[in-house]
This record gives sequence, C-alpha cells and structure tokens, in this order.
Amino acid sequence: MTVLVNPASGVRLEEIADSEVADVAKAVARAREAFEQWREATPGERARVLLRVADLVERDASSLVRLEVEETGKPLPVMRDGELPFSVDNLRFFAGAARSLDGTGAGVLSSGYTSMLIRRPVGVVGSIAPWNFPLVMAVWKIGPAVAAGNAVVIKPAPRTPRSTLALARLFEEAGAPAGLVGVVTGGASPGSALVRDPGVDMVSVTGSTGTGREVMRGAVEGLKRVHLELGGKAPAIVFADADLSEMSGGIALGATYNSGQDCTAATRVYVERSVYPTAVSALEDALARVRVGDPMSDSTDIGPLISDEHRLRVAGFVARAVDAGARVVVGGKALDGPGFYFPPTLVIDADQRSEIVQDEIFGPVVVVIPFDDEDDAVRLANDTRYGLASSIWTRDVSRALRVAHRLDVGVTWINDHLPIASEAPHGGVKGSGFGKDMSQEALADYSVTRHLMIKHTTPAARDSFRPA
Ligand code: NAD
Repeated sequence: MTVLVNPASGVRLEEIADSEVADVAKAVARAREAFEQWREATPGERARVLLRVADLVERDASSLVRLEVEETGKPLPVMRDGELPFSVDNLRFFAGAARSLDGTGAGVLSSGYTSMLIRRPVGVVGSIAPWNFPLVMAVWKIGPAVAAGNAVVIKPAPRTPRSTLALARLFEEAGAPAGLVGVVTGGASPGSALVRDPGVDMVSVTGSTGTGREVMRGAVEGLKRVHLELGGKAPAIVFADADLSEMSGGIALGATYNSGQDCTAATRVYVERSVYPTAVSALEDALARVRVGDPMSDSTDIGPLISDEHRLRVAGFVARAVDAGARVVVGGKALDGPGFYFPPTLVIDADQRSEIVQDEIFGPVVVVIPFDDEDDAVRLANDTRYGLASSIWTRDVSRALRVAHRLDVGVTWINDHLPIASEAPHGGVKGSGFGKDMSQEALADYSVTRHLMIKHTTPAARDSFRPA
C-alpha cells in the first residue's frame, strides 16, 4: 500500500494498493493478447486511437490537472497551460508519426533480388516512469510504443500513479484493445517483476542512473531491448559577450522549473572569469525573484519538492558544500510551515570535484564556477558522469556551434535552457542513458527493422555485366 501525500500541505490524499508479482504477470498476459490484435492494426487505425486519446485528455483536462497538482505540488497554471497541452501535442504528433513509419526503403541491392525494409513492433514493452512529470512521462512512454504497434505495461512512480491510471482508461475508451495499455502500481519490487517477466520483450525506464543500472541488470537474462532516460547535471556555459540579463532570467527558469526536479535543469553555471562577479549578481537577483508558494495560486512560479525526505536530501547537499568551504548567495535552507518547500539557491566557491557539482541534486540549486577560456569551459562542462542537456550563452554564433559540437550531451540550447518540441528527440549519453523520447526516433526505438528479400529472374544483360 502506498499513501499519497500532497507535498504542498503534507496532507494525505488516498491510499493506492501496490501490485503484487501475480498482478504484474496478469497485466503482461493481457498486454500480450492485446498485442496480437494491435500488431495487425494499420497505421491509420493506430493513429485514430491516439488522436481520440488526445481529444479525451483535453476533455478531462481539469480533472487530470487537479490529480497531478495534488500529487506533485507543481503550480496549477504550469500544468494547465503547459504540461497538459504539451502531452496532447505529443499524442497528436505520435498519431502522425505512426503513419510515416513504414516504407523506409526498397531496392535491388543484390542481383536477382528485390529488398524491402519494413518496421515491425518489438512486442510488449515494460515501462517504468518517475514522479517529476507523471502525465508527460506516461505519454512519452506509451505514445511512441503504441504508435509503433506495441502493447505497454507501465509502472508509474509510487507517489504519482493517478494520471497514468486515468490515461490508461482513456486508451480503452478510445477503442484500443483491452489491456493494450496496462498499469501496475508500487515501487522497485513490482518494477523489478515487470522488467524480468518473460512476457516482456523490451524495457523502458526513466529514472535515476542507479535505477537504470538495476533495470539493465534485470533485462540481461532475457536479453531484452533496453531504453534508458536517466539523470542529468546540465551545464550552462556563459561567455563574456553574453546578454547577462537574458542569461540570468533563462537560467533562473531553467534551474527552478518544477522546483529543479527536472533531468535537464540548469545546475552548473560556468562563467567566463571577466564577467563572473556581474553574472553572479545577475543570477542572485533573478533567483531571488522566483516566487515560491501555493501551487493553486496564479502568482506562484514554483511549488514544493515532492517529499520531506527529498527536501532533506537537497538540504544535505547544500549543508555539506558549505562545510567544505562553499558559500550560499541566495536561499539554502528549507522554508518553514506545512509543505516541503525549498527556495531557489545559489552556491559559489564550490570545488569542481565536490558532490554538489558532480551529483544530481534534483532541487532548485545552482552552482556558479568561473572559467578561463573555451577549452577550460568545455573540459569543466564535460566533467561529470552525466550527458543529457546543456546550454551556451554568447552572441558569437561561430563559437556557440564550435563549443556545442564538443559537448558530450543529448541536447544543447544556445541562449536558452529548457524548451522542447514533440518533433525533437530527447535523450542522453554517458550516465544519462540511451534511447530517445519524442520525435520519429522514439518510434524507431520501439520497433525493429526487418529485411524482406524477394528472388526474381535476372535480366540477361545483367549476367554479362562484371565491374572492371
Ligand atoms: P527513481 O530512479 O527512484 O525511480 C524511477 C522509477 O523506477 C520509479 O517508478 C521507481 O519505482 C522505479 N524503480 C526503482 N527501482 C527499480 C528497480 N530496481 N527495478 C525497477 N523499477 C525500479 O527516480 P525518481 O526519483 O522517480 O525520478 C527522478 C529521476 O528520474 C532523476 O534521476 C531524473 O533525472 C530522472 N529523470 C530523467 C529523465 C530523462 O528524460 N532523462 C526525465 C525525468 C526524470
């Protein structure tokens, strides 16, 4: 049993039963049955179901927004005007993408044979999601898998299952075969059962790097395809010619959106030494202006962290950095009152090798470090085990591109930090995992290319042709 708690008040919402191993096996068996039907659906039929689901999400928008705001503490306007419409856009994109997956190639590649390349679904996908963007993550997992002809059993994070449960019901209402999108609840134990279930052909996980490693281990026995979206520690490189006012506003948003509980959050800001003091003071002002408060209010920028336990973890990073000689310029201590609030926090004088610079904190904490030249900036930016997101702030286009090509990451923004689009692949390298969410590439990840080779008669002219 998992007790759901509203992080803005600490008040209990409801109890949700955790799935047992037998429940996981049942959901997988239903998904296998649904898969046998769904794999025969035409791209047009798949697209129609996804388009209906998008319409139903819009119809149920207010209740989905309420469920998610209660569970996560994210500001209502952010969910209502941002993440919910974005999920709908994702679903409509996947519906379109379903119709342009096949027919990737055909030709006479070997004399006397016609080759065709076709894409087929992988089978039943076991998907595991985190708590930071429950609805968006469920859509990123289910959408491309279903569009490519697979069935899915998804396990949302234990604290945030309700929007995923609601979304699965909408797939049935939209006419998907029963069990095509199954949901199991609970934490690592049902998660591990899902990964290991012999009826699961592929495993997709979004979560921390440690969880990714565990999941990969679990998938080894069955040699299952693995899709991993893991942690991040995004650097932002600020050159002396950057517009510091735009930079500080962009980084304040990039570092604190969703209370910093975002794998792409701007967490390490490297500033060219000549403008370091000015940049620190611009960031101080911008972070101090971020409004922390009641998620239901229109004037709130960020709500609480997900739990008291997580807030203690975030506060611990800051306290240990200070003990080691770093200085807090803004924030740094948990806020009083009910709810698990932690303010935007700016830390300077931290060592590049210290944990506050190297490890994912998953809170609104930014560390600023000076650099001397371009090589130094690239070296520092690449110097963590993660490789998900990054940004470069400069007016020099040539330098921006040169530096972007040298960063070991999945995405680089130039003069911004955060925006995403349904058409653009999202995913990392190194300890941030592999595989792409969104875009046509996600559908490719959830499908297998097959080669069909058809023998036919060879023209006589071909028999006499030999390359010189
Ligand atoms: P987490 O790793 O604790 O849990 C993620 C999910 O995995 C949960 O559903 C959890 O129950 C499940 N799980 C945990 N151990 C498991 C196991 N051994 N076997 C199977 N399932 C298991 O992560 P979290 O705290 O829920 O989310 C935060 C993490 O997610 C951060 O590290 C963040 O960077 C990452 N994240 C990454 C992306 C991305 O796109 N790369 C996006 C969002 C979040």
